[in-house]
Amino acid sequence: MNHYSVKAYGAESAETDLLPLQIDRRTVTNTDVKIDILYCGVCHSDLHFAKNDWGMTQYPVVPGHEIVGRVVEVGSKVSKHKVDDIVAVGCLVDSCRTCQNCKNDLEQYCPEWVGTYGGYDKHLETNTHGGYSETIVVDEAFVLSVPENLDLAGIAPVLCAGITTWSPLRHWNVGKDSKVAVVGLGGLGHMAIKLANALGAHVTLFSRSKGKIDDAKKLGAHDVVISTDEAAMEQVMGKFDVIIDTVPYVHDLNPYVNTLNTNGTLVVVGYLGPLDPMLVTVPMIMGRKSVAGSLIGGIAETQELLDFCGEHNITSDIEVIKIQDINSAYERMLKSDVKYRFVIDMSSLKS
Ligand code: NAP
Ligand code: ZN
Ligand code: ZN
Repeated sequence: MNHYSVKAYGAESAETDLLPLQIDRRTVTNTDVKIDILYCGVCHSDLHFAKNDWGMTQYPVVPGHEIVGRVVEVGSKVSKHKVDDIVAVGCLVDSCRTCQNCKNDLEQYCPEWVGTYGGYDKHLETNTHGGYSETIVVDEAFVLSVPENLDLAGIAPVLCAGITTWSPLRHWNVGKDSKVAVVGLGGLGHMAIKLANALGAHVTLFSRSKGKIDDAKKLGAHDVVISTDEAAMEQVMGKFDVIIDTVPYVHDLNPYVNTLNTNGTLVVVGYLGPLDPMLVTVPMIMGRKSVAGSLIGGIAETQELLDFCGEHNITSDIEVIKIQDINSAYERMLKSDVKYRFVIDMSSLKS
């Protein structure tokens, strides 16, 4: 397969910082779109992957799956996008397209889904590489259209932080009368607050950080409960229909299950792995409560969210950084010190 080399930033091992690399991109096939990357959001999953927290990283890894850019070339059969369009790419760049999940617009649950980074690129027969790079080449079926009225840097986090919280909000039918809680005010958490609020729900934030109360209210939370305050937790027992838990590391889910209403669901989108302490089933059985998980969202649902953001003028609250600052951004993200998503201005990669 013909390919060319582009500048990127990535990690060569779990122990080393991200640094400049050269990677290959394929030349466009009939159905491909070549995108000059303008902005790329920084997700906590990028950090987990670079540090091999999930034990599956193959190096080198070039993270980044919140990509906004300009189309610079299209293949001969591409009909959805044209040169100069502003487009976006999220966490998926391919899937089998024939299984039941693919047919149901749930490509994220396809057994053969290809991640934007760390997946298998069948064209180049290597790992896929993400958005911390100059350009990306993606099949048009996985390239999304960006509403014209929105800030391009601010829309980038919608491609992962947004869709990961939107998909469960929609699946569990959140609407005007819903009582929703969000655990953790970071990238995913702040989008969850904005989106649940825009859907008309009553929104509560659970946070460890008293310093985030005012921000949470500005973002659209009606209430904030400090999760380390037992009396405050007691006051919201049995209250919520849906809880979106975005905490990235192992933590006790039991106090949150207690705050679910009858038939309520706690949706874990953050931590991936065994629970410690274990789940106590008593409140689940006594109140028909569920603990569930959810992975990003499909392509059609991501386009639905981008359009919803266009209609409701929703973007992420961001701090724009240069790619050269990515390692200190990771350190700050580990301390929950970001308001509320870093987005890389990818023009910095050219300098
Ligand atoms: P983030 O910006 O770092 O935010 C995480 C928030 O969780 C923090 O701001 C903090 O909020 C809270 N938190 C952090 N460490 C904690 C701890 N040890 N105990 C309790 N609370 C803690 O991360 P993100 O980008 O939103 O990502 C969140 C998680 O979702 C990551 O694990 C990421 O890999 C995962 N993710 C999953 C999917 C999916 O499809 N399911 C997609 C994208 C990302 P407070 O200060 O308010 O407590
Ligand atoms: Zn992500
Ligand atoms: Zn499939």
